[in-house]
Amino acid sequence: MHSPFSSASHVDLTDNSTGFNFDTTYLNLPGAFYAPAQPVAVKLPQLVLFNRALAESLGLNADVLAEPTSALFFGGNVLPEGSTPIAQAYAGHQFGHFTVLGDGRAILLGEHVVRGSGGPGASMRWDIQLKGPGQTPYSRRGDGRAALGPMLREYIISEAMFALGIPTTRSLAVVATGEPVYRENVLPGAVLTRVAASHIRVGTFEYAASQGDLSQVKALADYTIRRHYSETLNAENPYLAFFQAVAERQAELIAKWMQVGFIHGVMNTDNMALSGETIDYGPCAFMDTYDPATVFSSIDQHGRYAFGNQPRIASWNLARFAETLLPLFDADEKKAIELGQAALTEFGESFNRHWVQGMRAKLGWIGEEEDDAELVATLLQLMQKHEADYTNTFRRLSGSASASAENHGTAANALPGTETLFATPEFTAWAGNWWARIKRQNILPAEALTNMRSVNPAVIARNHKVEEALSAANEGNLSAVQKLLDVLHKPFAETAENAAYREPAPPSNEPYRTFCGT
Ligand code: AMP
Ligand code: MG
Repeated sequence: MHSPFSSASHVDLTDNSTGFNFDTTYLNLPGAFYAPAQPVAVKLPQLVLFNRALAESLGLNADVLAEPTSALFFGGNVLPEGSTPIAQAYAGHQFGHFTVLGDGRAILLGEHVVRGSGGPGASMRWDIQLKGPGQTPYSRRGDGRAALGPMLREYIISEAMFALGIPTTRSLAVVATGEPVYRENVLPGAVLTRVAASHIRVGTFEYAASQGDLSQVKALADYTIRRHYSETLNAENPYLAFFQAVAERQAELIAKWMQVGFIHGVMNTDNMALSGETIDYGPCAFMDTYDPATVFSSIDQHGRYAFGNQPRIASWNLARFAETLLPLFDADEKKAIELGQAALTEFGESFNRHWVQGMRAKLGWIGEEEDDAELVATLLQLMQKHEADYTNTFRRLSGSASASAENHGTAANALPGTETLFATPEFTAWAGNWWARIKRQNILPAEALTNMRSVNPAVIARNHKVEEALSAANEGNLSAVQKLLDVLHKPFAETAENAAYREPAPPSNEPYRTFCGT
């Protein structure tokens, strides 16, 4: 078999032709927050996916990194210059139970600083992390490895989220390791290169607090504020303002998830990033038929992380976060708890605001009317009752590009998964109210429908399509993954090419199940 090491001699791996520009500030935190860790070289690293657009936006040398030899970097066999690899320490509440964790199967290569770019407010510092690079000091009994299927899945879903305009970590590359990983079955191994604004989690603060030394929490809070929330530095109570700002980003994020039917699936506190990005694509999936009780994760037996429970769980996680900051909110504990409680109440209100605002956009409404929230609620009840496809219902309402505005998208633009709902008199009554609301606006109804088509995706990462692509990839055929990625990059377009991706899954007796990918 051809060894990639022989071809490596063509490239001077010690020069900085990759464009990585590391400056890892995390190393300035107290030593308890991380441990040095080295990726364990893999047998036969092969570049399976490379995200050229992302590489370019990071100012990396995309031409060099697109070469097969870059599998040596993305597989962890060769460290890019300037990398100071570490595993980060954190804790977390997993399904409500506190555990000390840490990067057991991930290694931070460093913080890449994008040279001479980035507009105002744009983050220019990005964590570059290998997921699946072998054991670290925090691996406990795990092998530190990842399987190809789940890494491709993370790549696909994170790219889908990015294209939908939802804050998310991203995926720069997937490398097959040429080594087996042993789970229930023997699976091909892989390493994913994850790019994140940072990997600071609610669980990182829980870890700091568990050390029993407030100076550690303070060091982490100061670090996180400087890195992500510098606007709160001058607030009267900077730590409270920091907490409020984190909560605000989460309110916005979770409303966005729910507007596209995304179910994270494992919203443990270690999987909630303080940057406000979606992180840790494990058992996540998009909902087809609208039902707030939808759960796909095989281990979520009580529906803790069900679609409709996500705002409540975010609030629960934020409460765990607030607990770590209480002594920084106020020296008087009672006062500190009151401040934290008030901020959590604000989170709930903010989520509701973002949710209704986003639903207005989905329904083509501008401005605010008193009955908006109720009209939204009625539609959702009807969708649940008549088992309507979430994505296609909004898309059908938006009308197809050729539908006239006057049929309010309900007649011409039949889409699978919407027939039953749209045939009912109660829906027709609702649609009359919806259309009347559209007509009361200062824009033409056709314009409202056009606006709707720019926020209601025609294509989401449908579970059966994701599975189809992953099965083919496990057999060594990546064309279905590539095609899926192409389609997901243009989620608002209705084209002949993506028609098959707009169909709900064919009926099945087996409920769709996802797994944590460990
Ligand atoms: P996750 O389910 O990816 O959020 O992981 C939860 C925790 O388990 C984290 O601390 C991971 O680093 C750790 N973990 C998951 N899989 C492995 C593995 N194969 N080897 C070592 N640690 C792992
Ligand atoms: Mg995790």
